[in-house]
Amino acid sequence: MRLSLRLCIASVIVLTQLVHGALCWGKDGHYTVCKIAEGYFEEETVAAVKKLLPESAEGDLASVCSWPDEIKRFSEWDWTSALHYVNTPDYRCNYEYCRDCHDSHKQKDVCVTGAIFNYTKQLMTASDNLHTLVHSYNLTEALMFLSHYMGDIHQPLHTGFPGDLGGNTIILNWYHNQTNLHRVWDNMIIETALKTYYNSSLPLMIQSLEAKLTNRWSHKVQSWESCKHKQTACPNQYASESIKLACKYAYRNATPGTTLGDEYFLSRLPVLEKRLAQGGIRLAATLNRIFSAKPKLSSA
Ligand SMILES: [Zn+2]
Repeated sequence: MRLSLRLCIASVIVLTQLVHGALCWGKDGHYTVCKIAEGYFEEETVAAVKKLLPESAEGDLASVCSWPDEIKRFSEWDWTSALHYVNTPDYRCNYEYCRDCHDSHKQKDVCVTGAIFNYTKQLMTASDNLHTLVHSYNLTEALMFLSHYMGDIHQPLHTGFPGDLGGNTIILNWYHNQTNLHRVWDNMIIETALKTYYNSSLPLMIQSLEAKLTNRWSHKVQSWESCKHKQTACPNQYASESIKLACKYAYRNATPGTTLGDEYFLSRLPVLEKRLAQGGIRLAATLNRIFSAKPKLSSA
């Protein structure tokens, strides 16, 4: 194996420090992903998560899933901004960890997939060596970061082109409001869906997705949960899916100055709903793999 390749693979495992930013799924998107995940936690995961959550969460992971967005504007957390996304080469429509996971200064592993590997490893290592390593990491933060970034990676434009900053510089109209393409996928499609179908109630939208998971998508859940090669976390797969969806659905017919309306909304909403559901299922599966094999953390 070539040394550079070996170093790159090693760097996937080692990890991480970081730099600057973009927007994310809005609060509603992150809340939805984490709420769906909670429904799929195994018993040990429920206990471990409860133990790690800050008091302010009152036992509800979903309530703190936007925390990484709230802190990144503060200078001491500036290093986390590049962890919310990964850029892939303009118009290439594919993703490769070693080529793409770096910040604007080319520092390796500084991107959303690197962050997911990193925080998974922190939680795994700490739960393996609870008494010696628990003070080396802030596991409460690790849990909140991991839960947030698992949501981000399922937003197609969080694996986007650097030339338009994942759609942030594509200024267009969403119905009668001027916005940018990234915000359309972070917020606007969800907001319009809430108003149109759910009487502006997020719990109703979540219930509808949960119902689809037990009906329409029930035969897919197992494959969504699984990672190849018995990995604990497999964010590279999710990033590859996201950039393909970004090219096929998000960027298509969304050039600067266009007005997006019913046609775009109705054809993209099913894509977005499925990504929210997949994000929830995969967050739960990852946390179950971290905690359920290691009940030490919940019982310590
Ligand atoms: Zn984010």
